[in-house]
Amino acid sequence: MELAAQLIQQGHLCEAQLTLAERIQKQKGGNLLDIVVDLGFVDAKLAYDVVAQQSQTTRVHIATLRVDPRVAALIPYETSMRLKALALEVNQTTLKVAFANPLDLLAIDTVAQLTDMVVEVCVAPEKEIIAYLDEHFSSGHGVEESIDRAMAENVDHSKSWNSVDHTALDIQQADEVEAPVIQLVSKVISNAVRSGASDIHFEPDERVMRIRARVDGTLRQDVLIPKAMQSSVITRIKILADLDVAENRLPQDGRATLKYHHRTINLRVSALPTAFGENVVIRILDPESHIQDFKDMGMLEDTESELLHMAAQPNGVLILTGPTGSGKSTTLYALLKQISNLETSVFTLEDPIEHRMSLVRQTQINEEIGLTFSRGLRSLLRQDPDVILVGETRDQETAQLMIRAALTGHLVFTTLHTNDSAGAIPRLIDMGIEPFLLPASLIGVGAQRLVKKLCPQCSKIVEQPSPYRGFLARHAPEHADSPFWAAEGCEGCGMSGYRGRLGIFELMAINDAFHTAILRKEPSQMIQKIAVDNKMRTMFEDGLIKCSHGRTSLEELFKAIKTNDVH
Ligand SMILES: [Zn+2]
Repeated sequence: MELAAQLIQQGHLCEAQLTLAERIQKQKGGNLLDIVVDLGFVDAKLAYDVVAQQSQTTRVHIATLRVDPRVAALIPYETSMRLKALALEVNQTTLKVAFANPLDLLAIDTVAQLTDMVVEVCVAPEKEIIAYLDEHFSSGHGVEESIDRAMAENVDHSKSWNSVDHTALDIQQADEVEAPVIQLVSKVISNAVRSGASDIHFEPDERVMRIRARVDGTLRQDVLIPKAMQSSVITRIKILADLDVAENRLPQDGRATLKYHHRTINLRVSALPTAFGENVVIRILDPESHIQDFKDMGMLEDTESELLHMAAQPNGVLILTGPTGSGKSTTLYALLKQISNLETSVFTLEDPIEHRMSLVRQTQINEEIGLTFSRGLRSLLRQDPDVILVGETRDQETAQLMIRAALTGHLVFTTLHTNDSAGAIPRLIDMGIEPFLLPASLIGVGAQRLVKKLCPQCSKIVEQPSPYRGFLARHAPEHADSPFWAAEGCEGCGMSGYRGRLGIFELMAINDAFHTAILRKEPSQMIQKIAVDNKMRTMFEDGLIKCSHGRTSLEELFKAIKTNDVH
């Protein structure tokens, strides 16, 4: 097949992978491209670029197009879903339509006949098409309607559970026959997944239960639930996560797996007793979501090439530091994606596995059954790895094993909870690593934070407000007079002035200059000074560059970096 040949030619697919995909196709039928994407051989994003190229059509990104729902409705919802087609734009007698499969002539013909228009074909991933249709036309009830229906039923929810089928886990199929509470929970979760939320909080208050979702690092009020429904909502979640429904005085943790548009979503559920009932937090993990590349994350080109240079070393330890939620694992995934190939054996130990990657053997840490980082690492070293990712270095044993692995020819990536990159060295020494082992094993230490990205549609240039001006004059005189951008707010960004997040980074390459200080167990301030003398760009300076480019605001930068850490 031509497409497969093209993928092989461009080095995205190898013969062995194609042979397996064709074998599966012979057995089960289906589209070869979907099979190689499902097998994880080819990234979906890349696959659609190749499809567009091959079918000589344009690849469109539906999320950025602002499609008019009235245009989309020119193709009836059911037909759109069946054909995986979305009408985007009308131009006199021409209708621009995105197809998941632009080579499906029957689908194109059907749309042309149905609308009596000339169809201009372009390509978009099935997921994007379905996400749009689901958001605008899904026939199911909204969250508010589900609450109304549940209230109208006026039943004792705590007793009605036996009659309900709790095995229905496909959150898209929560239709009208199911109990309103099941629907409500499904809607809340699917709304959160669709808006890219990382967590959902179900918070019992004295008179209501509040549901909030964390999107781009900020909690947003989603909906309020009547107190009378609180226990049935919590019960439903506990059942999903296989928790003990009767236990409400002790904290509990569980997991659940849900289907959302053919994607598997993993949920980590935590229930904690509080004064007004159990507080439940659901962490959403979407292992099939697209892994960002360094550019998406806002990494400057010189930082990226330095990081890739470090990761190209045959052995040694590369550490990323930062608090929880600073985007460390996103950076590590992007790095693994860059370096994993058919010639390298890559293993990870993770807690949790946030993304699934092809060509990488990923192991979920499970401390309850004794599969700790250190035990996992010891076993993994017998699996002939080249590159190892240790999700987090928490204890002495893991730290020691990791250093030993680096000294015996392995490349190790890990994360540490320290404020900045300089802090990693005293921390490792505190954990019991002999200082003389570090110069030979440590390649580099990075640190990062996430800041909100200014909305490109409404941000505006401002004079520096005085508190910042004084600070910059003292600590970054080269920026003291430059203009900066500030948040304004428009419809596109929900009046917040920000859309999405980007990283600010620093990267400390360990060289001879550090050796004496490490052997003398100098404190982090001293290490930091050496790094700066070695021309390391600090996170603060990296952030200032991004402020001066209008990508984020000074406010966000100062929120992310504690100013007493600026040297
Ligand atoms: Zn805006």
